[in-house]
Amino acid sequence: MFAEVDIAWINAGYLLAAVCFILALKLMNTPKTARLGNLVAAVGMSVALGVTFLLPGFRPENLVWIFVAAAVGTFLGIYSARTVAMTAMPQMVALFNGLGGGAVALVALVEYYDAASNGGALESLAILAKITTILSLIIGCVSFAGSLIAFGKLQEMLPSKPLTYPGHHIVNLLLVLGTVGLAGWLTISGLSVPFFVVLTVLALLLGVLTVTPIGGADMPVVISLLNSFTGTAAGLAGLVLSNSALLIGGALVGASGLILTFQMCQAMNRPLSNVLFGAFGSQPEGAAGGGQGAKSVKAYGVDDAAILLSNADNVIIVPGYGMAVAQAQHVVKELADKLSERGATVKFAVHPVAGRMPGHMNVLLAEADVPYEQLFELEEINSEFSDCDVALVIGANDVVNPAARHDKSSPIYGMPILDVDKARTCMVLKRSMNPGFAGIENELFYMDKTVMVFGNAKDTLTKIIQALDRY
Ligand code: NDP
Repeated sequence: MFAEVDIAWINAGYLLAAVCFILALKLMNTPKTARLGNLVAAVGMSVALGVTFLLPGFRPENLVWIFVAAAVGTFLGIYSARTVAMTAMPQMVALFNGLGGGAVALVALVEYYDAASNGGALESLAILAKITTILSLIIGCVSFAGSLIAFGKLQEMLPSKPLTYPGHHIVNLLLVLGTVGLAGWLTISGLSVPFFVVLTVLALLLGVLTVTPIGGADMPVVISLLNSFTGTAAGLAGLVLSNSALLIGGALVGASGLILTFQMCQAMNRPLSNVLFGAFGSQPEGAAGGGQGAKSVKAYGVDDAAILLSNADNVIIVPGYGMAVAQAQHVVKELADKLSERGATVKFAVHPVAGRMPGHMNVLLAEADVPYEQLFELEEINSEFSDCDVALVIGANDVVNPAARHDKSSPIYGMPILDVDKARTCMVLKRSMNPGFAGIENELFYMDKTVMVFGNAKDTLTKIIQALDRY
Protein backbone atom coordinates (compact mmCIF):
# COMPACT_ATOMS: atom_id res chain seq x y z
CA MET A 1 0.00 0.00 0.00
CA PHE A 2 2.79 2.44 0.94
CA ALA A 3 5.81 2.72 -1.32
CA GLU A 4 9.15 1.44 0.02
CA VAL A 5 10.88 4.39 1.67
CA ASP A 6 14.61 4.57 2.39
CA ILE A 7 15.20 3.93 6.11
CA ALA A 8 17.33 7.09 6.20
CA TRP A 9 14.20 9.18 5.49
CA ILE A 10 12.31 7.37 8.20
CA ASN A 11 15.07 8.08 10.70
CA ALA A 12 15.15 11.71 9.56
CA GLY A 13 11.40 11.86 10.31
CA TYR A 14 11.97 10.43 13.77
CA LEU A 15 14.77 12.90 14.37
CA LEU A 16 12.46 15.77 13.39
CA ALA A 17 9.84 14.40 15.79
CA ALA A 18 12.42 14.24 18.61
CA VAL A 19 13.51 17.83 17.92
CA CYS A 20 9.85 18.89 18.12
CA PHE A 21 9.46 17.11 21.50
CA ILE A 22 12.52 18.83 22.96
CA LEU A 23 11.50 22.23 21.60
CA ALA A 24 7.97 21.71 22.95
CA LEU A 25 9.28 20.98 26.44
CA LYS A 26 11.30 24.19 26.32
CA LEU A 27 8.29 26.20 25.15
CA MET A 28 6.12 24.73 27.91
CA ASN A 29 8.44 26.28 30.47
CA THR A 30 6.40 29.47 30.63
CA PRO A 31 2.67 30.14 30.26
CA LYS A 32 3.42 32.67 27.50
CA THR A 33 4.67 30.01 25.09
CA ALA A 34 3.00 26.90 26.54
CA ARG A 35 0.22 26.77 23.92
CA LEU A 36 2.78 26.93 21.13
CA GLY A 37 4.71 24.19 22.92
CA ASN A 38 1.61 21.98 22.89
CA LEU A 39 1.19 22.59 19.18
CA VAL A 40 4.85 21.80 18.42
CA ALA A 41 4.57 18.57 20.44
CA ALA A 42 1.43 17.61 18.48
CA VAL A 43 3.27 18.24 15.19
CA GLY A 44 6.16 16.07 16.42
CA MET A 45 3.78 13.29 17.41
CA SER A 46 2.00 13.47 14.02
CA VAL A 47 5.35 13.22 12.18
CA ALA A 48 6.39 10.24 14.34
CA LEU A 49 3.07 8.50 13.75
CA GLY A 50 3.07 9.22 10.01
CA VAL A 51 6.61 7.93 9.54
CA THR A 52 5.79 4.71 11.40
CA PHE A 53 3.37 3.74 8.60
CA LEU A 54 6.35 3.74 6.21
CA LEU A 55 8.48 1.34 8.27
CA PRO A 56 9.60 -1.78 6.40
CA GLY A 57 7.56 -4.74 7.61
CA PHE A 58 4.46 -2.65 8.25
CA ARG A 59 1.44 -4.90 7.68
CA PRO A 60 -1.22 -3.13 5.59
CA GLU A 61 -3.83 -5.68 6.71
CA ASN A 62 -3.71 -3.98 10.15
CA LEU A 63 -4.50 -0.56 8.72
CA VAL A 64 -8.24 -0.70 9.45
CA TRP A 65 -7.61 -1.66 13.07
CA ILE A 66 -5.07 1.12 13.44
CA PHE A 67 -7.40 3.75 12.01
CA VAL A 68 -10.34 2.60 14.13
CA ALA A 69 -8.18 2.69 17.29
CA ALA A 70 -6.75 6.09 16.32
CA ALA A 71 -10.24 7.49 15.64
CA VAL A 72 -11.58 6.25 18.99
CA GLY A 73 -8.50 7.59 20.81
CA THR A 74 -8.67 10.95 19.05
CA PHE A 75 -12.36 11.34 19.86
CA LEU A 76 -11.88 10.41 23.54
CA GLY A 77 -8.81 12.64 23.82
CA ILE A 78 -10.48 15.71 22.32
CA TYR A 79 -13.72 15.11 24.22
CA SER A 80 -12.09 14.73 27.62
CA ALA A 81 -9.63 17.58 27.12
CA ARG A 82 -12.49 19.91 26.20
CA THR A 83 -14.93 18.86 28.89
CA VAL A 84 -12.77 18.11 31.92
CA ALA A 85 -12.94 20.67 34.74
CA MET A 86 -9.60 22.25 35.65
CA THR A 87 -9.95 20.78 39.14
CA ALA A 88 -10.25 17.29 37.65
CA MET A 89 -7.09 17.65 35.56
CA PRO A 90 -4.87 15.55 37.88
CA GLN A 91 -7.17 12.54 37.57
CA MET A 92 -7.33 12.95 33.80
CA VAL A 93 -3.53 12.99 33.67
CA ALA A 94 -3.52 9.89 35.89
CA LEU A 95 -5.92 8.09 33.57
CA PHE A 96 -4.05 9.01 30.37
CA ASN A 97 -0.76 8.12 31.99
CA GLY A 98 -2.13 4.77 33.11
CA LEU A 99 -3.29 4.01 29.58
CA GLY A 100 0.20 4.85 28.29
CA GLY A 101 1.73 2.39 30.78
CA GLY A 102 -0.87 -0.22 29.86
CA ALA A 103 -0.09 0.22 26.14
CA VAL A 104 3.61 -0.32 26.78
CA ALA A 105 2.87 -3.45 28.84
CA LEU A 106 0.71 -4.77 25.98
CA VAL A 107 3.52 -4.17 23.48
CA ALA A 108 5.86 -6.15 25.75
CA LEU A 109 3.31 -8.97 26.09
CA VAL A 110 2.77 -9.16 22.32
CA GLU A 111 6.51 -9.08 21.55
CA TYR A 112 7.19 -11.81 24.12
CA TYR A 113 4.35 -14.00 22.89
CA ASP A 114 5.46 -13.45 19.30
CA ALA A 115 9.02 -14.45 20.13
CA ALA A 116 7.93 -17.49 22.13
CA SER A 117 5.49 -18.80 19.54
CA ASN A 118 7.10 -17.77 16.22
CA GLY A 119 10.75 -17.23 17.10
CA GLY A 120 10.26 -13.47 16.56
CA ALA A 121 12.76 -10.65 16.91
CA LEU A 122 13.24 -11.25 20.61
CA GLU A 123 15.20 -14.46 20.23
CA SER A 124 17.60 -12.96 17.75
CA LEU A 125 18.27 -10.04 20.11
CA ALA A 126 18.60 -12.51 22.97
CA ILE A 127 19.44 -11.23 26.42
CA LEU A 128 19.18 -7.46 25.77
CA ALA A 129 15.75 -7.86 24.18
CA LYS A 130 14.61 -10.05 27.06
CA ILE A 131 15.76 -7.55 29.68
CA THR A 132 14.14 -4.57 27.98
CA THR A 133 10.90 -6.48 27.30
CA ILE A 134 10.65 -7.71 30.89
CA LEU A 135 11.47 -4.26 32.30
CA SER A 136 8.97 -2.52 30.06
CA LEU A 137 6.31 -5.05 31.09
CA ILE A 138 6.96 -4.53 34.82
CA ILE A 139 7.20 -0.74 34.68
CA GLY A 140 4.24 -0.48 32.30
CA CYS A 141 2.06 -2.66 34.56
CA VAL A 142 3.03 -0.81 37.76
CA SER A 143 2.30 2.49 36.02
CA PHE A 144 -1.03 1.24 34.64
CA ALA A 145 -2.35 -0.23 37.88
CA GLY A 146 -0.93 2.54 40.10
CA SER A 147 -2.36 5.28 37.88
CA LEU A 148 -5.81 3.69 37.92
CA ILE A 149 -5.73 3.61 41.73
CA ALA A 150 -4.57 7.27 41.74
CA PHE A 151 -7.43 8.11 39.38
CA GLY A 152 -9.91 6.31 41.67
CA LYS A 153 -8.68 8.17 44.73
CA LEU A 154 -8.75 11.60 43.10
CA GLN A 155 -12.16 10.94 41.55
CA GLU A 156 -13.32 9.82 45.02
CA MET A 157 -14.35 6.44 43.63
CA LEU A 158 -11.91 5.00 46.20
CA PRO A 159 -11.22 6.29 49.72
CA SER A 160 -8.77 9.15 49.42
CA LYS A 161 -6.99 8.50 52.72
CA PRO A 162 -4.08 6.06 52.89
CA LEU A 163 -5.29 2.46 53.07
CA THR A 164 -2.84 0.62 55.27
CA TYR A 165 -2.89 -2.57 57.32
CA PRO A 166 -0.38 -4.01 59.78
CA GLY A 167 2.61 -5.33 57.88
CA HIS A 168 1.73 -3.75 54.53
CA HIS A 169 5.35 -2.67 54.04
CA ILE A 170 6.47 -6.30 54.46
CA VAL A 171 3.86 -7.58 52.00
CA ASN A 172 4.98 -4.96 49.48
CA LEU A 173 8.62 -5.86 50.04
CA LEU A 174 7.86 -9.56 49.45
CA LEU A 175 5.98 -8.62 46.30
CA VAL A 176 8.96 -6.59 45.04
CA LEU A 177 11.31 -9.50 45.80
CA GLY A 178 8.96 -11.98 44.07
CA THR A 179 8.70 -9.75 40.99
CA VAL A 180 12.43 -9.15 40.77
CA GLY A 181 13.17 -12.86 41.36
CA LEU A 182 10.78 -14.04 38.66
CA ALA A 183 12.04 -11.36 36.26
CA GLY A 184 15.61 -12.53 36.87
CA TRP A 185 14.68 -16.15 36.30
CA LEU A 186 12.81 -15.30 33.08
CA THR A 187 15.87 -13.40 31.85
CA ILE A 188 18.26 -16.30 32.20
CA SER A 189 15.90 -19.16 31.36
CA GLY A 190 14.13 -19.95 28.07
CA LEU A 191 10.96 -18.16 26.99
CA SER A 192 7.89 -19.11 29.06
CA VAL A 193 4.61 -17.43 28.28
CA PRO A 194 2.77 -18.76 31.41
CA PHE A 195 5.46 -17.37 33.74
CA PHE A 196 5.47 -14.10 31.79
CA VAL A 197 1.75 -13.87 32.53
CA VAL A 198 2.43 -14.56 36.24
CA LEU A 199 4.98 -11.73 36.13
CA THR A 200 2.30 -9.47 34.61
CA VAL A 201 -0.08 -10.25 37.48
CA LEU A 202 2.64 -9.64 40.10
CA ALA A 203 3.56 -6.29 38.52
CA LEU A 204 -0.11 -5.21 38.39
CA LEU A 205 -0.51 -6.17 42.05
CA LEU A 206 2.62 -4.20 42.88
CA GLY A 207 1.14 -1.10 41.20
CA VAL A 208 -2.08 -1.44 43.20
CA LEU A 209 -0.47 -2.17 46.57
CA THR A 210 2.17 0.55 46.38
CA VAL A 211 -0.33 3.33 45.62
CA THR A 212 -3.19 2.35 47.97
CA PRO A 213 -1.20 3.25 51.14
CA ILE A 214 -0.56 6.77 49.79
CA GLY A 215 -2.98 9.54 50.74
CA GLY A 216 -4.99 11.59 48.24
CA ALA A 217 -3.00 14.74 49.08
CA ASP A 218 0.14 13.12 47.73
CA MET A 219 -1.47 11.80 44.56
CA PRO A 220 -0.14 14.59 42.28
CA VAL A 221 3.40 13.61 43.26
CA VAL A 222 2.64 9.93 42.73
CA ILE A 223 1.08 10.66 39.34
CA SER A 224 4.16 12.58 38.29
CA LEU A 225 6.37 9.68 39.41
CA LEU A 226 4.20 7.13 37.58
CA ASN A 227 4.32 9.41 34.56
CA SER A 228 8.07 9.16 34.72
CA PHE A 229 7.74 5.35 34.95
CA THR A 230 5.52 5.29 31.86
CA GLY A 231 8.08 7.38 29.97
CA THR A 232 10.85 4.99 30.99
CA ALA A 233 8.73 1.99 30.00
CA ALA A 234 7.97 3.62 26.62
CA GLY A 235 11.69 4.30 26.13
CA LEU A 236 12.40 0.62 26.80
CA ALA A 237 9.65 -0.35 24.36
CA GLY A 238 11.47 1.90 21.87
CA LEU A 239 14.54 -0.27 22.39
CA VAL A 240 12.53 -3.47 21.95
CA LEU A 241 10.94 -2.18 18.74
CA SER A 242 14.11 -0.38 17.56
CA ASN A 243 12.06 2.79 17.31
CA SER A 244 14.16 5.89 17.99
CA ALA A 245 11.21 8.31 18.33
CA LEU A 246 9.65 6.13 21.04
CA LEU A 247 13.03 5.81 22.72
CA ILE A 248 13.70 9.57 22.74
CA GLY A 249 10.11 10.54 23.58
CA GLY A 250 10.04 7.99 26.42
CA ALA A 251 13.35 9.21 27.81
CA LEU A 252 12.09 12.82 27.77
CA VAL A 253 8.89 11.90 29.60
CA GLY A 254 10.85 9.76 32.06
CA ALA A 255 13.32 12.52 32.86
CA SER A 256 10.84 15.40 33.01
CA GLY A 257 8.44 13.38 35.17
CA LEU A 258 11.23 12.67 37.60
CA ILE A 259 12.34 16.31 37.72
CA LEU A 260 8.74 17.41 38.37
CA THR A 261 8.38 14.80 41.12
CA PHE A 262 11.44 16.11 42.92
CA GLN A 263 10.39 19.73 42.41
CA MET A 264 7.03 19.01 44.07
CA CYS A 265 8.73 17.22 46.97
CA GLN A 266 11.10 20.16 47.33
CA ALA A 267 8.19 22.65 47.35
CA MET A 268 6.57 20.64 50.16
CA ASN A 269 9.96 20.11 51.83
CA ARG A 270 9.34 16.37 52.07
CA PRO A 271 11.60 13.61 50.83
CA LEU A 272 10.12 11.32 48.18
CA SER A 273 10.44 8.39 50.59
CA ASN A 274 8.08 10.20 52.99
CA VAL A 275 5.55 10.74 50.18
CA LEU A 276 5.71 7.07 49.13
CA PHE A 277 5.93 5.36 52.51
CA GLY A 278 4.84 7.99 55.06
CA ALA A 279 1.04 7.39 54.72
CA PHE A 280 0.64 11.18 54.90
CA GLY A 281 -2.97 12.18 55.64
CA SER A 282 -3.69 9.30 57.99
CA GLN A 283 -3.35 11.43 61.13
CA PRO A 284 -5.25 10.16 64.14
CA GLU A 285 -8.79 11.42 64.66
CA GLY A 286 -8.78 14.94 66.04
CA ALA A 287 -5.55 15.99 64.41
CA ALA A 288 -7.49 17.62 61.62
CA GLY A 289 -9.43 19.96 63.77
CA GLY A 290 -10.59 20.82 67.18
CA GLY A 291 -7.16 21.81 68.45
CA GLN A 292 -8.14 25.47 68.30
CA GLY A 293 -11.75 24.64 69.06
CA ALA A 294 -12.06 26.95 72.05
CA LYS A 295 -10.82 29.96 70.08
CA SER A 296 -13.05 32.03 67.88
CA VAL A 297 -12.59 33.57 64.47
CA LYS A 298 -13.52 37.03 63.22
CA ALA A 299 -16.17 36.65 60.53
CA TYR A 300 -16.74 39.61 58.17
CA GLY A 301 -19.65 40.29 55.86
CA VAL A 302 -19.07 41.46 52.30
CA ASP A 303 -19.60 45.14 53.22
CA ASP A 304 -16.94 45.01 55.93
CA ALA A 305 -14.63 43.24 53.49
CA ALA A 306 -15.26 45.87 50.80
CA ILE A 307 -14.53 48.72 53.25
CA LEU A 308 -11.28 47.05 54.29
CA LEU A 309 -10.19 46.60 50.69
CA SER A 310 -11.25 50.10 49.66
CA ASN A 311 -8.87 51.53 52.27
CA ALA A 312 -5.92 49.34 51.25
CA ASP A 313 -2.99 50.74 49.24
CA ASN A 314 -1.15 47.45 48.90
CA VAL A 315 -3.02 44.21 48.32
CA ILE A 316 -1.47 40.80 47.71
CA ILE A 317 -3.86 38.16 46.43
CA VAL A 318 -3.06 34.55 47.31
CA PRO A 319 -5.06 32.07 45.24
CA GLY A 320 -5.41 28.42 46.24
CA TYR A 321 -7.32 25.30 45.38
CA GLY A 322 -10.63 26.89 46.46
CA MET A 323 -10.31 29.50 43.71
CA ALA A 324 -10.10 26.63 41.22
CA VAL A 325 -13.11 24.87 42.75
CA ALA A 326 -15.18 28.05 42.66
CA GLN A 327 -13.87 28.91 39.17
CA ALA A 328 -13.39 32.38 40.61
CA GLN A 329 -10.38 33.41 38.51
CA HIS A 330 -12.33 35.84 36.32
CA VAL A 331 -13.94 37.65 39.27
CA VAL A 332 -10.55 37.71 41.00
CA LYS A 333 -9.16 39.53 37.96
CA GLU A 334 -12.16 41.88 38.01
CA LEU A 335 -11.53 42.69 41.67
CA ALA A 336 -7.81 43.20 41.04
CA ASP A 337 -8.58 45.61 38.18
CA LYS A 338 -11.11 47.48 40.28
CA LEU A 339 -8.69 47.90 43.18
CA SER A 340 -5.94 49.01 40.76
CA GLU A 341 -8.28 51.59 39.21
CA ARG A 342 -8.86 52.94 42.70
CA GLY A 343 -5.12 53.43 43.11
CA ALA A 344 -4.07 50.31 45.02
CA THR A 345 -1.05 48.23 44.09
CA VAL A 346 -2.23 44.68 43.51
CA LYS A 347 0.04 41.65 43.19
CA PHE A 348 -0.58 37.92 43.04
CA ALA A 349 1.47 35.52 45.13
CA VAL A 350 1.63 32.03 43.64
CA HIS A 351 2.80 29.13 45.81
CA PRO A 352 4.47 26.31 43.82
CA VAL A 353 2.04 23.69 45.17
CA ALA A 354 -1.10 25.81 45.45
CA GLY A 355 -3.99 23.91 43.89
CA ARG A 356 -3.65 20.31 42.87
CA MET A 357 -0.92 20.31 40.25
CA PRO A 358 2.16 22.36 39.49
CA GLY A 359 1.28 25.55 37.64
CA HIS A 360 -2.44 25.14 38.51
CA MET A 361 -2.84 28.76 39.64
CA ASN A 362 -0.73 30.15 36.79
CA VAL A 363 -2.95 28.41 34.25
CA LEU A 364 -6.16 29.71 35.83
CA LEU A 365 -4.90 33.26 36.21
CA ALA A 366 -3.56 33.23 32.64
CA GLU A 367 -7.01 32.07 31.49
CA ALA A 368 -8.46 35.16 33.19
CA ASP A 369 -5.82 37.37 31.47
CA VAL A 370 -4.06 38.40 34.66
CA PRO A 371 -0.79 39.92 33.34
CA TYR A 372 2.30 37.79 34.03
CA GLU A 373 4.01 40.87 35.46
CA GLN A 374 1.48 40.80 38.31
CA LEU A 375 2.33 37.20 39.28
CA PHE A 376 5.10 36.58 41.80
CA GLU A 377 6.63 33.39 43.07
CA LEU A 378 7.06 32.61 46.75
CA GLU A 379 10.71 33.69 47.03
CA GLU A 380 10.04 36.93 45.15
CA ILE A 381 7.08 38.09 47.20
CA ASN A 382 7.46 36.74 50.72
CA SER A 383 9.44 39.73 51.95
CA GLU A 384 6.66 42.07 50.73
CA PHE A 385 3.90 40.79 53.00
CA SER A 386 5.11 42.89 55.92
CA ASP A 387 4.47 46.00 53.80
CA CYS A 388 1.10 44.86 52.62
CA ASP A 389 -2.22 46.24 53.93
CA VAL A 390 -4.35 43.26 53.01
CA ALA A 391 -3.28 39.73 52.11
CA LEU A 392 -6.37 38.40 50.37
CA VAL A 393 -6.35 34.60 50.64
CA ILE A 394 -8.79 33.08 48.16
CA GLY A 395 -9.42 29.39 48.79
CA ALA A 396 -5.85 28.72 49.93
CA ASN A 397 -5.20 26.92 53.19
CA ASP A 398 -2.16 24.64 53.59
CA VAL A 399 0.13 26.95 51.60
CA VAL A 400 -0.50 29.78 54.11
CA ASN A 401 -0.45 27.74 57.32
CA PRO A 402 2.13 29.32 59.68
CA ALA A 403 2.45 25.97 61.53
CA ALA A 404 4.74 24.91 58.67
CA ARG A 405 7.29 27.42 59.98
CA HIS A 406 7.36 26.59 63.69
CA ASP A 407 5.29 23.54 64.68
CA LYS A 408 7.63 20.56 64.53
CA SER A 409 4.74 18.18 65.18
CA SER A 410 2.82 19.41 62.13
CA PRO A 411 2.84 17.10 59.10
CA ILE A 412 3.61 20.13 56.92
CA TYR A 413 6.47 21.36 59.13
CA GLY A 414 9.26 22.68 56.92
CA MET A 415 7.12 23.36 53.86
CA PRO A 416 7.88 26.89 52.62
CA ILE A 417 4.69 28.94 52.94
CA LEU A 418 3.48 32.34 51.84
CA ASP A 419 3.90 34.64 54.85
CA VAL A 420 0.39 36.13 54.73
CA ASP A 421 0.33 36.32 58.54
CA LYS A 422 2.92 39.10 58.30
CA ALA A 423 0.52 41.42 56.43
CA ARG A 424 -1.33 44.13 58.40
CA THR A 425 -4.60 42.31 57.79
CA CYS A 426 -5.22 38.90 56.37
CA MET A 427 -8.60 38.31 54.72
CA VAL A 428 -9.48 34.67 54.08
CA LEU A 429 -12.25 33.65 51.68
CA LYS A 430 -13.51 30.08 52.15
CA ARG A 431 -16.76 28.29 52.80
CA SER A 432 -16.25 26.83 56.25
CA MET A 433 -13.63 26.02 58.87
CA ASN A 434 -12.82 22.77 57.07
CA PRO A 435 -9.15 21.96 56.64
CA GLY A 436 -7.31 21.90 53.32
CA PHE A 437 -5.79 18.98 51.42
CA ALA A 438 -3.35 18.03 54.20
CA GLY A 439 -6.30 17.69 56.59
CA ILE A 440 -4.84 19.89 59.31
CA GLU A 441 -5.99 22.88 61.33
CA ASN A 442 -4.77 26.32 60.22
CA GLU A 443 -3.82 28.66 63.09
CA LEU A 444 -3.87 31.61 60.67
CA PHE A 445 -7.68 31.69 60.85
CA TYR A 446 -7.61 32.35 64.60
CA MET A 447 -5.11 35.21 64.57
CA ASP A 448 -6.21 38.68 65.67
CA LYS A 449 -5.23 40.18 62.33
CA THR A 450 -7.24 37.63 60.33
CA VAL A 451 -10.78 38.15 59.12
CA MET A 452 -12.78 35.34 57.55
CA VAL A 453 -15.38 35.92 54.83
CA PHE A 454 -17.34 32.69 54.54
CA GLY A 455 -18.99 31.55 51.34
CA ASN A 456 -18.22 30.28 47.87
CA ALA A 457 -15.25 32.36 46.67
CA LYS A 458 -16.89 33.38 43.39
CA ASP A 459 -20.12 34.55 45.04
CA THR A 460 -18.26 36.35 47.81
CA LEU A 461 -15.96 38.15 45.36
CA THR A 462 -18.87 39.15 43.11
CA LYS A 463 -20.64 40.68 46.10
CA ILE A 464 -17.47 42.44 47.29
CA ILE A 465 -17.00 43.97 43.81
CA GLN A 466 -20.58 45.27 43.89
CA ALA A 467 -20.15 46.56 47.44
CA LEU A 468 -16.94 48.40 46.50
CA ASP A 469 -19.03 50.81 44.40
CA ARG A 470 -20.71 51.92 47.60
CA TYR A 471 -17.46 52.83 49.39
P1 NDP B 1 -5.89 23.47 50.28
O1 NDP B 1 -6.33 22.19 49.75
O2 NDP B 1 -4.96 23.49 51.41
O3 NDP B 1 -7.14 24.36 50.72
C1 NDP B 1 -8.13 24.70 49.82
C2 NDP B 1 -9.20 25.46 50.58
O4 NDP B 1 -10.12 25.93 49.62
C3 NDP B 1 -9.96 24.58 51.55
O5 NDP B 1 -9.61 24.90 52.87
C4 NDP B 1 -11.43 24.87 51.25
O6 NDP B 1 -12.09 25.27 52.43
C5 NDP B 1 -11.37 26.03 50.25
N1 NDP B 1 -12.40 25.92 49.22
C6 NDP B 1 -12.76 24.83 48.53
N2 NDP B 1 -13.75 25.13 47.68
C7 NDP B 1 -14.02 26.44 47.83
C8 NDP B 1 -14.93 27.33 47.24
N3 NDP B 1 -15.80 26.94 46.30
N4 NDP B 1 -14.92 28.62 47.62
C9 NDP B 1 -14.06 29.04 48.59
N5 NDP B 1 -13.17 28.24 49.20
C10 NDP B 1 -13.15 26.94 48.81
O7 NDP B 1 -5.30 24.28 49.04
P2 NDP B 1 -3.92 25.01 48.84
O8 NDP B 1 -3.95 25.48 47.42
O9 NDP B 1 -3.68 26.00 49.94
O10 NDP B 1 -2.84 23.87 49.04
C11 NDP B 1 -2.63 22.83 48.09
C12 NDP B 1 -2.46 21.51 48.79
O11 NDP B 1 -2.30 20.47 47.80
C13 NDP B 1 -1.24 21.46 49.67
O12 NDP B 1 -1.48 20.64 50.77
C14 NDP B 1 -0.21 20.81 48.75
O13 NDP B 1 0.85 20.20 49.45
C15 NDP B 1 -1.08 19.79 48.04
N6 NDP B 1 -0.44 19.36 46.80
C16 NDP B 1 -0.38 20.20 45.73
C17 NDP B 1 0.32 19.85 44.60
C18 NDP B 1 0.47 20.77 43.45
O14 NDP B 1 1.25 20.46 42.57
N7 NDP B 1 -0.24 21.90 43.43
C19 NDP B 1 1.00 18.56 44.51
C20 NDP B 1 0.85 17.74 45.68
C21 NDP B 1 0.14 18.14 46.77
P3 NDP B 1 -13.70 25.13 52.55
O15 NDP B 1 -14.00 23.70 52.29
O16 NDP B 1 -13.99 25.56 53.96
O17 NDP B 1 -14.28 26.05 51.56
